[in-house]
Amino acid sequence: MRADRCDLPDEVVGHPGTSAVTGPVFTLAPGPVGATAPTLAAMAAPLLHHLDPAFRRLYAETLALLQEAFGTQSAPVLLPGEAVVGLEATAASLIRQDDVVLCLISGPYGAAFAALARRYAADVVEVGVPYDAVVPPQDVAAALDRRPDVTIVSAVHCDTPAGTVNDIDQIARVVADHGALLVVDAVATFAGSPCDVAGWRAGVVVAAPQKCLGGPPGLALLHVSDDAWRHMAGNSRAPRSSVLSVLDWRDVAEPTRSFPYTPPVPEIAALHACLRQYLAEGPAAVWARHSAAARAVRAGTGALGLPLWAADPATCSDTVTAVRVPAGIDMARLRALARGQAGVMLSGGQPELGGQVLQIAHMGPSAYPLSPVIAVTALGQALRWLGADADVGGGVEAVLASWPALDQIESSST
Ligand SMILES: *Cc1c(COP(=O)(O)O)cnc(C)c1O
Repeated sequence: MRADRCDLPDEVVGHPGTSAVTGPVFTLAPGPVGATAPTLAAMAAPLLHHLDPAFRRLYAETLALLQEAFGTQSAPVLLPGEAVVGLEATAASLIRQDDVVLCLISGPYGAAFAALARRYAADVVEVGVPYDAVVPPQDVAAALDRRPDVTIVSAVHCDTPAGTVNDIDQIARVVADHGALLVVDAVATFAGSPCDVAGWRAGVVVAAPQKCLGGPPGLALLHVSDDAWRHMAGNSRAPRSSVLSVLDWRDVAEPTRSFPYTPPVPEIAALHACLRQYLAEGPAAVWARHSAAARAVRAGTGALGLPLWAADPATCSDTVTAVRVPAGIDMARLRALARGQAGVMLSGGQPELGGQVLQIAHMGPSAYPLSPVIAVTALGQALRWLGADADVGGGVEAVLASWPALDQIESSST
């Protein structure tokens, strides 16, 4: 599925100094986001052979860092291919011919997993809500009461185009009580807001480097529980010697095992660097930075006159904000102007959401205090050019007003 399929025209005429070649480019679309200097340096390191002992060490260290970031007791899995490959591999590897899968759908990524599940499962049941809402945990409980034969439940933590967050803490409890395996797409939240992977007791959690970790696309990061490994091992149709095999990548860091095929060496090096930065800054500090950026973006876009897409502001993600753009505004032109004239890359216009929804990401390196100012000025000016009435000054002031007061800053630093 391409949630961001509305591309910009090739010939975006740029302001001098904002070309893709010279930059500066402010990537405020939801991943890949701009990488930090240490991440770029890691990607530029000399290429090691994948069987070189130095690479084996880097790989083992990367798995250990990821396990620490996941906060789990078992070794995670790094799957070559970006996050959607990880989601497809999860569906292919986990879902048996006799499984009944309950898919929770509050946006395009939830619907995409249901389509994958239909390929493999005996039956797929859906609990869907309009894409500006989230799935109520009591609806999950009711669906499981109606269908006691459900064996797997799939959920998306933040469905990115909608910018909304499902309450996985509650949903996971309901699923665990039922005894089903939970699959969580946490691609857009992992390393940007709390993901209680161990507490969820989830079967599989899929994350990725190119969102809140600020890495390149090219890997899927999987937590797989003991129960889920058992379920996969008992799946006679689970792919082996295949890019969709999760089982092939189990325990590859052990000295007695080897890689089933060549892992993407620079992506592993970059992930290693991203995880070190994430753990050094400290997850709690990183999450706080994301939620501060989210508050600032919402204040700024609200003052610009752009309402939130989410029906309930309490369901908005700390990692990406989706806003409604007035019906008369051409979304492709709006985004082309922001990119061409200000170097600001935004995403939006997904037909599944009616075509007039724009996302502003604040994830990883884009979750910094000035990013919301950049987003609000570029977007506000582009809206004005297209004839909308946008209060850019008010938007910037609203961003600044979301910052803490001086006495709060001084009391928290003493
Ligand atoms: C980005 C994203 C994905 C993965 O899409 P890719 O095309 O692999 O980057 C999956 N789920 C969600 C919620 C995402 O935001």
